[in-house]
Amino acid sequence: MNTISTRCLIIGAGPAGYTAAIYTSRANLKPVLVEGLQPGGQLTTTTEIENFPGYPAGISGPKMMEDFRAQAQRFGTDIISGVVTSVDFSKRPFHVTLDDGATEIEAAAVIVATGASAKYLGLPDEDRFKGMGVSACATCDGFFFRGRPVAVVGGGDTACEEALYLATLASKVYMIVRKDYLRASKYMQQRVAEAQNIEVLFNTQTVGLHGTDLLEGARLVQFKGTPEEKELEINVDGFFLAIGHTPNTDVFKGALELDAQGYIVTRDGKTATSIEGVFAAGDVADPVYQQAVTAAGSGCRAAIDVEQFLLMNP
Ligand code: NDP
Repeated sequence: MNTISTRCLIIGAGPAGYTAAIYTSRANLKPVLVEGLQPGGQLTTTTEIENFPGYPAGISGPKMMEDFRAQAQRFGTDIISGVVTSVDFSKRPFHVTLDDGATEIEAAAVIVATGASAKYLGLPDEDRFKGMGVSACATCDGFFFRGRPVAVVGGGDTACEEALYLATLASKVYMIVRKDYLRASKYMQQRVAEAQNIEVLFNTQTVGLHGTDLLEGARLVQFKGTPEEKELEINVDGFFLAIGHTPNTDVFKGALELDAQGYIVTRDGKTATSIEGVFAAGDVADPVYQQAVTAAGSGCRAAIDVEQFLLMNP
């Protein structure tokens, strides 16, 4: 077993993880950051980021994450590729092992910043059509649907963002919204309303998907459980999920306190978790705000909390 020792291990490479890395490396803690399967996290699957302060003209998600990464490396963060497959937080130093089965990291303090992943509806045919029309990332897969009709499920900011992006490529975009209103910000709602080729289907749920090899359409039900209930068929080649996220905490079950939705519970208004010396930052501990800027902010807070912890517990 190859054992790497560090004073501060950061698990996760989104805005929270990289910001924690920038701060802890500048504090001379020589952090090791494990970057997982999707370096840059969810921002690498978004288009333009227009609400991160300091970029008046906007910036692409992947470019922003490249810059975060370069900044962390500039101050000496040791970035390692790999997925954490098990953790032992029962005593200090803490231990984690990576998916290569050969690397173990020993750390005096840990910052968990593993983020969250897109949710699926759980329809029987969803899995069958994954990569054949079903996707949770318009930026990644939208290109395949140029000039074709697609659907986006959800009524939040993500759904609006995905629908607006797809509207620039697809012939038509249906938004499938289960309530009679969009939860998204007024600005996003307005942009959706102004798009010529987006049709919002309110009070609508998806009951099935069909196609031969590739997705060809979706069966919907409108006004379910009311006298106006009716079925509706739409022909779509792409079906994009934008219905929220699940925190990436499977590996921490039993090791850290999680809430009912699986988010890491932090305490005392800080980034401290149920285990002294383990801290959490970003979406993995934030079911509410889930913004790049809030994730970056909490990465900074976790780094400062680690510094203070290591001063008291060298
Ligand atoms: P949200 O939780 O805000 O929205 C999820 C949407 O999916 C809701 O419309 C919800 O419906 C719907 N939904 C959930 N489960 C189902 C289901 N089983 N079937 C059908 N519909 C379902 O998630 P988002 O990912 O959109 O946003 C998360 C956070 O990130 C928010 O705070 C948002 O503001 C922010 N964000 C900001 C952006 C920006 O500012 N540029 C871009 C993207 C996200 P219902 O309303 O009925 O619950």
